Amino acid sequence: MTGKERLADSGMKHHDGGLYVHVAYCRSKCIYCDFFSAGDRIADWRRYVDALCSEFRYRIEELAWPLRTIYFGGGTPSLLPEREFMRLCAFLKPFMETVEEFTIEVNPDDVSEDMLAVWERGGVTRLSMGIQSFDDSVLRAIGRRHDGHTAVQAYRMARNVFDNISIDLMFGLPGQTLDMWRNDIHLALELRPEHISAYSLMYEEGTALTLLRDSGRLEETPEELSEMMFRMLIEELSEAGYDHYEISNFALPGFRSRHNSSYWLQKPYIGLGPSAQSYDGDSVRKGNSADLRGYIRHWTSGNEDDGCSEEYLMETEHLTVGELKEEYVLTRMRMREGIPLRDFFDRFGEEACSTLIKNARSLAENGMVSLSDSNISLTENAILLSDAVILALASDC
Ligand code: SF4
Repeated sequence: MTGKERLADSGMKHHDGGLYVHVAYCRSKCIYCDFFSAGDRIADWRRYVDALCSEFRYRIEELAWPLRTIYFGGGTPSLLPEREFMRLCAFLKPFMETVEEFTIEVNPDDVSEDMLAVWERGGVTRLSMGIQSFDDSVLRAIGRRHDGHTAVQAYRMARNVFDNISIDLMFGLPGQTLDMWRNDIHLALELRPEHISAYSLMYEEGTALTLLRDSGRLEETPEELSEMMFRMLIEELSEAGYDHYEISNFALPGFRSRHNSSYWLQKPYIGLGPSAQSYDGDSVRKGNSADLRGYIRHWTSGNEDDGCSEEYLMETEHLTVGELKEEYVLTRMRMREGIPLRDFFDRFGEEACSTLIKNARSLAENGMVSLSDSNISLTENAILLSDAVILALASDC
């Protein structure tokens, strides 16, 4: 059986999948951010929601599996006005019967008792709050629009309504010391969210942050300090009972993010909105172009000849077996359970599996991976070097 046949045979037997909805507006731009978003002053929310609904209607046949998770991300979905948020939820309602997790990303500034009630009424089961830090000077330095006090207040208010809350934290931020980071971790633990995502600051091309660094107006956090921060995070959160289930994600028992886990487990998802990505769970990836005006115009015109062809708005990529294998290794190794060898064998065959095990053996000798009869996973020593270790594992497979 060829690799393609094997994949066709083992793939596409998906029991569930997800829906991602990109809300492409933000009130202001955080200096590190390279996600696609525009200022909300230009937002025509009614047309934007019309466009999302219209895109979903058009692509409905891609939904060949029960919808298990919905995720409103962005941008800033918490800016969606009540009326448009409820209209979008009412539109999605017929598909929600099988949904087990419906997450919305919220900015602490947008949280109010009224909006919490609206999100709950719309069917949201989980909030993901972009706190990043509780330290005002650090928050100011990265251009966030909330302060630490607002974040705590917003969290406490949300806690009265939702029993599943995730918070985002960042480390390696400009001016952030080890003590400040310890304080952030302790404050987070006091709040005890069900889930914590913590990311090291990245200097993405074209962001204001990278420009500031390159022009010498901002100093990058030394690597050793970032590593100490990461180690501290892992130690403190593990001690507090959080499961470090993915390199950047920690959850109390039973509260892993189902939606994000499905990305790491190669499950299918449909992404709506400009710049959103979709994956059929097999070998086809689609990417909507990052063109807000074109997106709205196309999906609200009701006219095929609006100047925006399907090909322009959505790029389709057919992944080769080699690309699928590499992606499988890269994503699965980020998870604590790593690669289940039986599954890898079933998908990619004996030869690829032998190469993978051979690579794993030499990495295991250096204490970088742990290799058992059933799994390959990263050791704790390797977490800080995860990118290099995972690439070495994937080579020649
Ligand atoms: S609010 Fe989120 S999406 Fe918007 S600019 Fe800041 S980090 Fe980026």
